[in-house]
Amino acid sequence: MSVAENIARLEAELAGSGARLVVVTKTHPVERLREAYAAGARRFGENRPQEMAAKQPELPPDVEWHLIGHLQTNKVKLVAPFVHTVQSLDSLRLLLALDQHAARHGRIINALLQFHIAEEEAKTGFSYHEAEELLQSNEFKTVNNVRLTGVMGVATFSDDENLLRTEFRQLRGYFELLKAHYFAGDESFKEISMGMSGDYRLAVQEGSTLVRVGSAIFGSRG
Ligand SMILES: *Cc1c(COP(=O)(O)O)cnc(C)c1O
Repeated sequence: MSVAENIARLEAELAGSGARLVVVTKTHPVERLREAYAAGARRFGENRPQEMAAKQPELPPDVEWHLIGHLQTNKVKLVAPFVHTVQSLDSLRLLLALDQHAARHGRIINALLQFHIAEEEAKTGFSYHEAEELLQSNEFKTVNNVRLTGVMGVATFSDDENLLRTEFRQLRGYFELLKAHYFAGDESFKEISMGMSGDYRLAVQEGSTLVRVGSAIFGSRG
């Protein structure tokens, strides 16, 4: 199936679910991104800041760029002029760097708190306690140009449905606790980014609002 057909099928599947599609374009050349754009996709996810910064000027300005991979503070300047959402916010240090650069550009950058929900140790992200430490810190009170819009997580690479559901529920639980304790009156704190090509259906059933899908659209990255 073509990129356009895959996007149409996914959009039809997500319709009415409360989840929106982030088309994960990492490693794919700009021509494939243009194909996705022509098929109606407007949210693109990249995991490397350099690659995202190189592609961004080649696409129309109404694309929402989502960074989904680890961002080093010394790379923030590459994406600060245009990034819509940094889904992979994993430290206070990064939050402060993003805030500083966003202010410099007179922008508000959205960010999701990335949580560690997988069994694999290697995957990054906050524990609930660490996220609370960030939200309770004095530094957090100084942040004006980054808007926290929700949470993100990457589940274990597995086809064990029970395990995946447990991890998605854990992330949703974190979201609900944070919402109640820190963002009760804040309508913009609403995103639960979870689900990839292999597990987005389960993630949607467990309350995902943003699914990040690459290989189910473009084929495997080889
Ligand atoms: C690559 C990637 C995806 C998309 O993975 P697919 O299996 O190709 O759909 C989603 N989220 C993150 C964080 C990724 O790095």
